[in-house]
Amino acid sequence: MKAHNFSAGPCILPPEVLRQASEAVINFDGLNLSLLEISHRSKNFVAVVEKTQALIKDLLDVPAGYSVLFVQGGASLEFVMVALNLMKKDGGKAAYTDTGAWAGKAIEEAKRQGEVVVVGSSKDKNYNFIPKGYEVPVGMDYFHCTSNNTIYGTQMKEFPKVDTLMVCDMSSDIMSRKVNVADFDLIYAGAQKNMGPAGATIVIVKDEILGKTGRDIPAYLNYKTHISKESMFNTPPVFSIYVMMLTMQWLKDNGGVEWIEEVNRQKAELIYNEIDRNPLFKGTAEVEDRSTMNACFLLNDESHTETFNEMWKAAGVSGINGHRSVGGYRASMYNALPLESVQVLVDVMKELEKKVG
Ligand code: PMP
Repeated sequence: MKAHNFSAGPCILPPEVLRQASEAVINFDGLNLSLLEISHRSKNFVAVVEKTQALIKDLLDVPAGYSVLFVQGGASLEFVMVALNLMKKDGGKAAYTDTGAWAGKAIEEAKRQGEVVVVGSSKDKNYNFIPKGYEVPVGMDYFHCTSNNTIYGTQMKEFPKVDTLMVCDMSSDIMSRKVNVADFDLIYAGAQKNMGPAGATIVIVKDEILGKTGRDIPAYLNYKTHISKESMFNTPPVFSIYVMMLTMQWLKDNGGVEWIEEVNRQKAELIYNEIDRNPLFKGTAEVEDRSTMNACFLLNDESHTETFNEMWKAAGVSGINGHRSVGGYRASMYNALPLESVQVLVDVMKELEKKVG
């Protein structure tokens, strides 16, 4: 029996996707060749890239005028590429929210290219809330935010309207809920949460915003390169893209983003209700900003740690240890995690209460 995988990332993928992917590693498309040993420029693989792009456009309702790109280097390289592609060479300035360690890393990279104005920060409370009501000053090249803060379990429920380009790191909640892509100029996300295995990064960019910085951008780091070469500037991460295609097809076949948003809402409600009800536990994030993807919680009395750890491990739960900067537990409930797995964890929390409460 498979473990109940609450890993924060790379994370759980649907079992049928893993099965199909393993078959393609042996024999892809009936070619008697592995997916891993054919040319990325073969017609069979070009079809995979095109289908994956089409599925993403369909699932997220991406409007005309936007490109969907696959690049490498993870969301971490996007911290750099965003600044290089959008911050003016002379007098470049951008506004960032500081909502966690990943947002902080994005800020550090942008600072290498120009001036960064931090417009909202939750740093003084160990990032346990989403800053709101801030003003983005005029004259910014763009505004950058992180929709879901994986480590702290906070999530933006609304996005501010800004008078500049809107850029968002959606690494840990892309495809988990409906977003209006037209409200954004650039969205990026590592694939390894809701979309597929690590290796590919997805970028959704409004074409018309590019080429305006006056910079001589290295070819790989220039989004225009990837647009003009249709994500085939160099050898793409073929396995990651293929599994992304399967995962997006799984999502579409089951009812798309609207369907998964409801499933994710139910999973989150189940665990947060138990965190709030059970006197042994407390949540770490402000209630209104709680993430549907990562639920962070602590034991009120740490002397129960060993007992609780033994119990959830015995129940087949995996990957709920909290990040070192928050401690306690983090139950990551990405798209492919079934409601039943959350129920198993909640039952263990109830059993602990019976045992020691
Ligand atoms: N942003 C967020 C919100 C993340 O959760 C992560 C990774 N967990 C990153 C950026 C960095 O992504 P990568 O490892 O793909 O560089």
